[in-house]
Amino acid sequence: IYILGIESSCDDTAAAIIHNGKILSNVVASQKIHEEFGGVVPELASRAHQQNIVPVVHQALKKAGISKDQLHAIAFTRGPGLMGSLLVGTSFAKSLAYGLNIPLIDVNHMQAHILAHFIDEEGFEKPSFPFIAMTISGGHTQIVEVKSHFDMTVIGETIDDAVGEAYDKSGKILGLGYPAGPEIDKRAQKGNPKAYQFTKPKVDGLNFSFSGLKTAILYFVQRKVKANPNFIEENLNDICASIQYTIIGILIEKLKLATKQTGIKQIAIGGGVSANSGIRQALKDGEQKFGWTTYVPKFEFTTDNAAMIAIVGYLKYLEGDFAEQDVMASARLKI
Ligand code: ATP
Ligand code: FE
Repeated sequence: IYILGIESSCDDTAAAIIHNGKILSNVVASQKIHEEFGGVVPELASRAHQQNIVPVVHQALKKAGISKDQLHAIAFTRGPGLMGSLLVGTSFAKSLAYGLNIPLIDVNHMQAHILAHFIDEEGFEKPSFPFIAMTISGGHTQIVEVKSHFDMTVIGETIDDAVGEAYDKSGKILGLGYPAGPEIDKRAQKGNPKAYQFTKPKVDGLNFSFSGLKTAILYFVQRKVKANPNFIEENLNDICASIQYTIIGILIEKLKLATKQTGIKQIAIGGGVSANSGIRQALKDGEQKFGWTTYVPKFEFTTDNAAMIAIVGYLKYLEGDFAEQDVMASARLKI
């Protein structure tokens, strides 16, 4: 079974071909245009998707070595995401499926960040059910109890900013480029995580809050820069390490609570921030310390990609779960 997956929820135009459970090609065109604005500009994103989508799909087919006539179905991101961006992928997928007369499959982007773990990939074990998924990305921070592929319940989520946002906004305060997550991570590995303390937000239960942390970092930096204008440059690695230490601390605390509440000790992470070295190490430590079994996705399946859309397409194809031609993109689609 050959399935084409299309992802266009934010600022990456992506297409992938999956053959049964295995990825044959995984193409991403990242939009550079947003860097100069320090964040994604929705109108520019949808325009870039329009330019990229045909070449990206062509390339995915070419790399997979198949023609479009061999496809059995087309899977696309229906939401959540930016409406203008979603519309490009949705319209393209609908027309192509209609033209080829093959089934159309709608995919929830946040489910896909979780189900990326079910891609057949050497050296990567698939989680068995039930497990806890923590999706940490640019727009979401959720703890999800996963009972089967499509039986998922969100048991905790952020009440304001997402973790990725906390990284990106902290980076902005420090004068780093967008997105700042990868650079903060790189610098954190060279700095002292206990150099500075930031108070952790107090949020009951399994919910998160990250907007207070961003403000705490802003005030801290402003105060220090007043005393020493070169404070940031001189201590950048230590600042990054301290921010990362605080964020990872928050995530692990909530995971501990989630395992306690559910009695489930299998944990999978997904989303762009699961590329982070700190969270990867902390999960590994958790195996020793708390008896967890943890699953971390392959690097290329962490940030937005179409391979994760294709695997969900394949799983839905097996269940005969198809979309109608009148399916609409949904910016706030829930799990
Ligand atoms: P969503 O999936 O919620 O719709 P999104 O698709 O924009 O949001 P992703 O592409 O999944 O988000 O993730 C992007 C985020 O991941 C950015 O905020 C980026 O800074 C962050 N990120 C990427 N790599 C790292 C890293 N190594 N450490 C920390 N954060 C990272
Ligand atoms: Fe995403």
